[in-house]
This record gives sequence, C-alpha cells and structure tokens, in this order.
Amino acid sequence: MDQNETLLRGAAAPAALDRRRLLAYAGATSAVAVVGALARPTSASAVIRLGETTASVDSVKEALAVAAKNAWGGFQNGKIPSSQLTPVISSVPGSGYLRQDAARQYTAMSLAFSKAVGRTLDITEGYRDYARQLDYWNRYQAGTGNLAAYPGTSNHGWGISVDFGSGVQTAGTAAKRWMDANAPSYGWQPTGNTFSRPEPWHFDYTRAWTGPVGQRNDLGSVIARCTGSLPGVGSGYVALIGFRHLRQLENSGWVNSLRALDVPIYDLSPAAFLDALDALSVPRSALVAKANYWLR
Ligand SMILES: [Zn+2]
Repeated sequence: MDQNETLLRGAAAPAALDRRRLLAYAGATSAVAVVGALARPTSASAVIRLGETTASVDSVKEALAVAAKNAWGGFQNGKIPSSQLTPVISSVPGSGYLRQDAARQYTAMSLAFSKAVGRTLDITEGYRDYARQLDYWNRYQAGTGNLAAYPGTSNHGWGISVDFGSGVQTAGTAAKRWMDANAPSYGWQPTGNTFSRPEPWHFDYTRAWTGPVGQRNDLGSVIARCTGSLPGVGSGYVALIGFRHLRQLENSGWVNSLRALDVPIYDLSPAAFLDALDALSVPRSALVAKANYWLR
C-alpha cells in the first residue's frame, strides 16, 4: 500500500458530500463502461458528466441498475470466484485479480509503461470483493474513510478497475501524463479524473467482455484459429500465439500434437484474433504467412 493509498483509505474524514454526489460517484465508476467508450466516445463523456452533475443516477436502485450493465460471466459484483479471474500483483491483500482480458491488456500496457517511464506499473488495488467494498462504504458513511461507491456498484467488484501507484496516483507526474495519454489505447480509461473528487490513480477497463481468451489463469500459449479472413494472410489461419510470440501452424499434425499436450484451441473472429495479438504484445507485423516470430 503506497502512501497516497493510506491517506486515501484511512485518514481524515472527507468533506461532506450530499447523497446525489455520492450516488453520482457510484454511477461514474460504472457508467463509463456501459457506453463502450471506444465505440461511442462522444456519449461516453456525456454519461460521465451526467453521472457527476445531474440526477441521472440519484438512487441506489439506479446505481445498481447501471452497475449491472457491467456484469459478466453470470457473477455478482464483488462475488467472483478467484478461479475465474487472472492473478496480478497488487499491494492491497486479496485484490490481486482482474478479469482476464483486462489483465492481459494491463500486462501489455505495463510493458510499454516500463519502457517509457522507466519503472514498473504497480497496482495498489485491483479486484475488490463485496466485503471490502462494504467496509469502505461503512467507513465512508462513518466519516472515517474516503468516498466509496455503494456496495455492488463499483467496477472494482467486476475486476475491471485498478488503482495504480508508481507515480500515477499524483496528477502532473510523468507517469500520470503517460497513462492519461496512452492507457486508453489499451482499453484502460482514466475515469478517476472525472469523479466529483478526482482520483488520478483510478482507471477502468472499458472494453466489453467477449468471453475467455485462452486458458483461464494461464498467460501461456494458445492455438488460435481465425474464423474469418485476416489482412495479409487470408482465411483459415491457425497459429500458436502467446506472450510476445506467434507461429503459424500450417501442419495439422502440429496442431494435434499440441492438443495432445493440452494446449487449448479457440476459434476467434478476425477482430478477436487481432485483439488477442495486441493483448499478448505480439506486433501486427508478426502476422504473416509462415510466421515464426519470437520477441526477445
Ligand atoms: Zn479505484
């Protein structure tokens, strides 16, 4: 837990906020993903603004309804089995999990961050289970904790929010500037900037969940078979892809041998195939006929 997080969670009582603003916070933490920010960027900012300043979310019921739109996998907010999440390293005990696609994009982003900023991109808090959200909420209500979303409405409870350290928690630092400029291209939006009490450290992963890619808790290789035509290489492309490597599997014997070793195989649309490449830090340029790409 870094210093800011300690201050955030533990210290002085927050300035009194009225009910609407509190619930607006709950809305803002979840509303942004609803609009699928990449698909409709103009409405994304509109929804955040509504959540912050209007009565668009002015009841617990509405906040819960908005949050429900980020539900995935049939789970309840804050009650997702850790076996269904991908482990990451975080400071707050028990919070080292993210939804799989969010975790993969975090990994890719952290590599780029390290190159650009010169240090690792550390997670202070990721997944937040219901009990911890309730604790934060109770402390907020008692005036001894920071602003907290109503239990069941935080994107932390869906495994798609992260509070970052590494300097990202402080507005104006090089780390924070890099993240604001570059995180959105990995699907991570600096939504904390828009809270009624800005939280520079808080980011939401806003791309829609499309189901598991690869083995659930495994960042290793998978066989990906593209169900459509890929630019440059045509249709029927089958590849072994993993963290920064890609090899075309032209020979069905290879596929079967790998299957015998329990390497999972997935059918992916061209868009999902390319997303998987991005998430695994495999450059698009590696996608060629007879590819045998390994990044050292
Ligand atoms: Zn947060």
